[in-house]
Amino acid sequence: MKWLLCFALSIFPLAAQVKVVSLHPLLTDLLQQVGGSQLEVIDLIGKTGDPHHFEPSSEQLRSTTDASLFFISGKGLESYLPALKSIVGNRAKIIDVGATVPSLEGACSHCEEHDHDHSDHSVDPHWWHSIDHFRRATQSVAKALAAAHPEHADLWQKNAARYQSQLEDLDRWTRQQIARIPKKQRHLATAHDAFGYFCKDYQFTAHPVQGLNREQLPSTTELAKLLKTLHEQNVRAIFPEKESNHKILASLTRDTGIALAEALVADGTNVDSYEKMVRHNVNAIVKALAPSPRTP
Ligand SMILES: [Zn+2]
Repeated sequence: MKWLLCFALSIFPLAAQVKVVSLHPLLTDLLQQVGGSQLEVIDLIGKTGDPHHFEPSSEQLRSTTDASLFFISGKGLESYLPALKSIVGNRAKIIDVGATVPSLEGACSHCEEHDHDHSDHSVDPHWWHSIDHFRRATQSVAKALAAAHPEHADLWQKNAARYQSQLEDLDRWTRQQIARIPKKQRHLATAHDAFGYFCKDYQFTAHPVQGLNREQLPSTTELAKLLKTLHEQNVRAIFPEKESNHKILASLTRDTGIALAEALVADGTNVDSYEKMVRHNVNAIVKALAPSPRTP
């Protein structure tokens, strides 16, 4: 029987699987959705990797020599990008997925205090919290894959269309859930400034305690200003993050009497899929901010 299999393979060789690299946990899911059986995703960051701090090691990069494309999240998230370009740029193409969707600037707590140059504001890298951006990114990924490997273009376009329609359903579900929160209660106080794109799409005001990454801690003045705003706006809850420790927010909520809500997933770490992350976050937000149904 073995000789028969060898004979069959020599006449009908199996199409080689295309190998690509993912450098963000949510892009790993997106690539698998679009790539299906014809794509092997080398997941360098892994499910537990923190995209703000991850950097591929030279040993990891050596394991990617047969990958033709490297997918990054972009918008300044990968500080190691220049080094990556110099190491793999001559043998693989780097696809900046974030560059294919519109940008937002990070919240600026000192805008009202200074007349400063707004060009110094950082771009918010957390574009994945806009479901519409993730839907657009699906198309960008399918296009990049098809351009490099046109032999599988039809399959990838079909998979992308299916996943985009799944994301449209997810967006519809999110809108239905958020509709339960009255507009005046749509205030999202979070740990780091990760939910700007979500807030824009679903008409929330963002109140991040930290900056665009977790190292940017607020000054005492900024914290006092934030607490005043939270009280004035009658903000019901502050949301910690699954990815970071809750100490600052726990003491903040203890001092203010504002509830500490269930932790949100900010950067896509430790989740099974993009859809599960969105459903978890939306359920936690609705649970904390929607009025409880009246008992008869
Ligand atoms: Zn983040």
